[in-house]
Amino acid sequence: MVSEGPKESCGVFGVFGQDTAAKLTYFGLYALQHRGQESCGIVTSTGRTIHEHKGMGLVPEVFDEQTLNQLPGHTAIGHVRYSTTGSSIAKNAQPFVVSHGEMTLAIGHNGNLTNAKQLRRDLEKRGSIFQTTMDSEIIVHLLARNLQAGIEDALVTAVSKIEGAFSCILMTENKLIAFRDSKGFRPLCLGILNGGYVVASETCALDLVDAQYLRDIEPGEILIINEDGLRSLKPFSEARHSYCIFEYIYFARPDSNIYGQNVYSVRKRLGTQLAKEHPIEADLVMPFPDSGNYAAIGYCQGLGIPLAMGVIRNHYVGRTFIEPTQSMRDFGVKVKLNPVREILNQKRVVIVEDSIIRGTTSKMRIKALREAGAKEVHMVVSCPPHRYPCYYGIDFSTKGELIACQHSVGEVQSYIGLDSLGYLSLPGMVDSTGYDRDRFCLACFNGEYPVEPPDDISKLCLEH
Ligand code: SF4
Repeated sequence: MVSEGPKESCGVFGVFGQDTAAKLTYFGLYALQHRGQESCGIVTSTGRTIHEHKGMGLVPEVFDEQTLNQLPGHTAIGHVRYSTTGSSIAKNAQPFVVSHGEMTLAIGHNGNLTNAKQLRRDLEKRGSIFQTTMDSEIIVHLLARNLQAGIEDALVTAVSKIEGAFSCILMTENKLIAFRDSKGFRPLCLGILNGGYVVASETCALDLVDAQYLRDIEPGEILIINEDGLRSLKPFSEARHSYCIFEYIYFARPDSNIYGQNVYSVRKRLGTQLAKEHPIEADLVMPFPDSGNYAAIGYCQGLGIPLAMGVIRNHYVGRTFIEPTQSMRDFGVKVKLNPVREILNQKRVVIVEDSIIRGTTSKMRIKALREAGAKEVHMVVSCPPHRYPCYYGIDFSTKGELIACQHSVGEVQSYIGLDSLGYLSLPGMVDSTGYDRDRFCLACFNGEYPVEPPDDISKLCLEH
């Protein structure tokens, strides 16, 4: 199957103070499945004992009624993973659980540590033995080294050593702790449910379990949840925030509120801004479901051009399928998105996309539209060209993976086979969020990295 676009690193979910903690976490992970589809896991605590179940695959593939019944306890954390550091293998599934002395710890991590390689090397020199190739395990080893000072002080020490992007949940037998890097790259929010608490990567997960949103975990905050309630530590000096703007454009679910703004509304405004910057005379506007849907609504409303669904998505396509016969051309594209000739024939079409990463998928899709009779095919993209890799938890971590890094807009246009191609400007993208530019990480667009990445960072850098 063709690669479809950038992948998020992970999603986390945690519950404290609910008898059905495992089941609530299962539903929470269901809501966060878009953030990671390779593996998932749930770890629970009864207050005395820890129970875990993890596996490769989607949430409903890994869990059923029976496995959930074997996860007792009133506290739980869960994780869905797409690997950005370490291979996609069972031992790298999270939450990662480790016992140290009297205590058992479980951790779920969303983001990427930029100093992982150096930290791991130092820890190994001092005798640490790693079980996985994930950067997240480093946090646990740093914690273990200082546990004699107590979990909270140990965590402050560990967090002061790690750099990069991390929105994490940590569980001990009787505590749930949520913490977020001081730049706040990845989202993390807090909700309340029947007197207990819920922590999640996105608010859509709170909605599904009927939890009420309280607030975001603040950048640099360590939030401790136990039987006495909530306690917030802010041991680090304030840093300039660097929220990942790409959460708004692509990653987060449109029904989530991220950094205080509804994602659907931001995406629609991105489309309205695109209409101002790149107005095109056309017969219809369409997204490729489900990538540019909401920006497409904003774009066509801005220009008064009708929105049409010129390709139909098959919702039942799995992640792998049996190789088609030679005569079935472009099978990989058509099995998922089939163009509707009656809508496209002899039409001037504008595609609204949320991003172009490698360009290969777009190229095949545009070819299919032309074969279905489209007279002109234009594309507008609701963000600027991706010219720089991301080191903070997204899977385009080398320049070679980014078509706009190697080629001009004109070259990308002719490679994909378009009549025109327009990207949203960087100021236009930022304005559409309703926030100032200095609140965001924009590194994959402008190369200004909020945390300097080392030269040798890569997905498999801890495996060599
Ligand atoms: S580099 Fe891009 S994708 Fe990565 S955190 Fe920054 S804005 Fe997000």
